[in-house]
Amino acid sequence: MKRSFYSVALGLVTAAFMTSSVSVMAKENYSPKKAEYALDSDDVPPYTIVKVENVSVKCPVGTAPRLPYRLWVNYADGRGEYRQVRWTNSAAAKENQMADPAENPVGKQYEVQGYITGDNTTTAGYPVKAQVTVVAGTYSNVPAAPIARPLPLRCVSIDGNNRLTHNRELDIDNLLNIDVKQQLYNYRDTYGMSTEGYPVADGWDSPTTKLKGHGSGHYMSALAMAYASCQDQQKKEKLKENIKTMVDGLRECQERTFRYDEKLGRYWEARDFAPEDELKEMKGSWADFDRYKQKYQDYGYGYINAIPAQHCALIEMYRAYNNEQWVWAPYYSVHKQLAGLIDIANLVDDKQIASKALLIAKDMGLWVWNRLHYRTFVQSEGTQEQRRSRPGNRYEMWNMYIAGEVGGMAESLARLSQMVSNPDEKAHLLEASNYFDSPAFFEPLAKNVDAIRTRHANQHIPMITGALQSYIGNHNAYYYNLALNFWNMIQGRYRYAMGGVGNGEMFRQPYSQILSMCTNVTGDGRRNLYPEPTINETCCAYNLAKLTKDLNCFNPDNAAFMDYYERVLYNQLVGSIHPEYYATLYQYAVGLNASKPWGNDTPQSTCCGGTGAENHVKYQEAAYFVNDQTIWVALYMPTTATWEDKKITLKQECEWPAEKTTIRIVKGKAKFAMKLRVPYWATKGFSVKLNGKEVASQYQPGSYVEIPLRKWTKKDVVEVSMPFTPHMDYGPDKMQIAATGKNETRTEFEPLWTGAFMYGPLVMATDGIDDWNKATIDLDPSLQSIVLNGPKEIKPDQPQNQRRRWQPRTVAASTDDGAYSNIYTLTYAGMDFVPDYAADRGVTHYFRLNLPGTPEPVVGEGGEAGADISALRETMTEAKSRRNAQQKWNDMEVKVPEYAPWARHGFRRMMQNLAAAEAVLDNPDTNADQTAIDKATANLNAALNSMRPGNLPELEDMDELLPLLEKAKNVQNPSAELKEAIDYADMVVKYVSDGSGTMDMIEKATQQLKKIQ
Ligand SMILES: [Zn+2]
Repeated sequence: MKRSFYSVALGLVTAAFMTSSVSVMAKENYSPKKAEYALDSDDVPPYTIVKVENVSVKCPVGTAPRLPYRLWVNYADGRGEYRQVRWTNSAAAKENQMADPAENPVGKQYEVQGYITGDNTTTAGYPVKAQVTVVAGTYSNVPAAPIARPLPLRCVSIDGNNRLTHNRELDIDNLLNIDVKQQLYNYRDTYGMSTEGYPVADGWDSPTTKLKGHGSGHYMSALAMAYASCQDQQKKEKLKENIKTMVDGLRECQERTFRYDEKLGRYWEARDFAPEDELKEMKGSWADFDRYKQKYQDYGYGYINAIPAQHCALIEMYRAYNNEQWVWAPYYSVHKQLAGLIDIANLVDDKQIASKALLIAKDMGLWVWNRLHYRTFVQSEGTQEQRRSRPGNRYEMWNMYIAGEVGGMAESLARLSQMVSNPDEKAHLLEASNYFDSPAFFEPLAKNVDAIRTRHANQHIPMITGALQSYIGNHNAYYYNLALNFWNMIQGRYRYAMGGVGNGEMFRQPYSQILSMCTNVTGDGRRNLYPEPTINETCCAYNLAKLTKDLNCFNPDNAAFMDYYERVLYNQLVGSIHPEYYATLYQYAVGLNASKPWGNDTPQSTCCGGTGAENHVKYQEAAYFVNDQTIWVALYMPTTATWEDKKITLKQECEWPAEKTTIRIVKGKAKFAMKLRVPYWATKGFSVKLNGKEVASQYQPGSYVEIPLRKWTKKDVVEVSMPFTPHMDYGPDKMQIAATGKNETRTEFEPLWTGAFMYGPLVMATDGIDDWNKATIDLDPSLQSIVLNGPKEIKPDQPQNQRRRWQPRTVAASTDDGAYSNIYTLTYAGMDFVPDYAADRGVTHYFRLNLPGTPEPVVGEGGEAGADISALRETMTEAKSRRNAQQKWNDMEVKVPEYAPWARHGFRRMMQNLAAAEAVLDNPDTNADQTAIDKATANLNAALNSMRPGNLPELEDMDELLPLLEKAKNVQNPSAELKEAIDYADMVVKYVSDGSGTMDMIEKATQQLKKIQ
């Protein structure tokens, strides 16, 4: 049943933002205005799509077609804009078939059906078709090398007093607040040195956390970035002192591994320690590691890490993620430390410090090469038993959930290879970079087959950054192509409006973001489930921004890259630090009534505390790109930039965010071309003037406009005007089931498109809406009734100490410096919206949209039944492949329980929903009913999304722990011991709820509580 358009009264409360009320100071010269568009015709509604660009793709044989994720559409009222497309070939079986040369030989032509989402022409959207022609050879237009590079961080400073500079200062002050000696504690402990006077590290760097070292790595990166970005000389000096202390401290430890072995006639190396027999015996308990701490001379030449070297070797025995007994993610933390040292080497303008940092990183990089070169191999054929029959199969090592998470090892090693000069070392480091390849992940991607679905998001994104970086050295186009294919898939199939991806750290099924968001739940510690709208891990946003910046170096004229970079930076990244005190985010708030879960106040607190410490001191890292004669102005932000090769300094004068900006040369003169990004959202009124003269007659959104090669002097002025336009970011799938309250996890809704309001580059959010019925609005897609309020200064009117729910332990900032300036707002249907980066508690981004028009049914594959069953088939195929994987494992004679592909409760739910889906298809009454088909699809998909790998506990696994914990909490005057046990159990419940807990954690928490009670 479709409700009639415009007839439903909106039961919405006017929303205030951030607090119960706000004081608003309107800027002068900016009166509220309504978006208005001229109508060409009285007959055709203005939002009607009248034209879509043609899609014709030449597809190299053996690959699935690269289809655009956004298409330019024209409406009846003359407007045009990019819209997202959902293509119907995303099922794994379908893509593999397309990439099969036997099915699709050279010369074959075929069509792929797609739909522009957020449109009611049909039930699936506005139909479009791609014409595909299979051609010989491989991808053409593969750039041989990067053609542009970003202006280095230290050459660009952010000016003024705005949210960007405000966040930067919060971050720098927080870094300066950390005792550098604390960051050296683990190293001294691991290398047999006294730790007296060195405070114990905390968070995920605490002495009993096997990820330790990750935090000090991020700390080093953040220090280096802060040093490059810092505008205050005193702070800069202090940052440099701390950097020097870290570098000196680490080298002192590393030199302890330089042991010449007379018998071998060479230094004792990585390959020499931890022979197979010893590793077999070793469990990886803390007692094991403590034994090795005094044997630091055996770690092998150049080893530097905050945990003994045996930790890295254990994964050669396929030891799973299990903090108490085996490993967490050995190479993940090694990567952070390498990256920290590389950042110091690149960003610190003190030659001694920089070269020492490079030396430490190089020696460790070569340790990794040595260990993996001599002790590991790749075998991808055979059963898992066969592949694991001897230690060191990298195919298995890197495919392990969490334990095999290697972060950006490949990226760091490839970068090191570019930085050293000795040819042997260069070659070894590059070779080591590709030791971290994951063929299971890369090979389908190289064929443009989606290998992203259901993988751990932040485990895999950095692998792609590594593949791309290694391409610069190995010139193998395979790596470039798979990186580009991955990025395109992210844009079309996985990202949310704010640019983030994933849910509970995992990628879900393609094109299912809305279902995934709406059905996400969390436990309350009593096995009750509640809707949980915090889903996109901030580390993923950090890594996608990095990948995008690197890809842009190869394709600086393709504005799609910086369009995305701007999206993820101006929304999720800027919005992931609290405006008043230093706290950052792990999962980002996305969806309905979502609050930002602040925390992560040090680089070592969690993974996102680590990337969080880096995010806010490098906003300008991709603002400008250059080559020999061109500068690309990629981001509009108030900056002063020095282009050293041309001996010029230019200044971009604007506010942030900016609707207009002025660019001037403030120092030097030079000859070059300037390219300025026309953002995809700049669909009306965009203009660039050079010395008062318009530089083009029209500007295509999502492209660059060029001011050709000319001599520039201080007299030249470039004025860019880019009025923010409102638009919708439509989700790829309709919303039809959602978790709505306590244990209401599958409430059914009339299927409706969803979307998030955007205003220029900004995702807009409102608050005060707490259920999906209230978040259902009638939307005129031409957005004629949106009121654009322009920028304001918005200050919370309550003193900040009354608004804090969470006591920061570190730095607080004064609120009257740029945190609340220049905040754009809009009003729609009585609701006030603010940018997501400025929103905090109880905010709603996505709305259910009652769009005009009555959709025609789609008849897809299996059309004989009168309903489109292609999506159901696709979901069932995935379910069956999981069933088969589990079956295979069940059939093994000898099996390690932790290696089961899927945890049992989620698997059971999937099997139930698979049976239900089969029943729908078998029943003639339901197999022609589109609603029944869609419900079965959504339910099965939701069941797939809630599954966990076999080595991870599920909520049901806390059945014994939870009542014990509740009982413990009711004890009057609990002892210190009990309090500690409760705290630990609470942490375990939290970890298990968000998917990062382990079985041994539950066991330990249960035993502790049992013992005390
Ligand atoms: Zn993280």
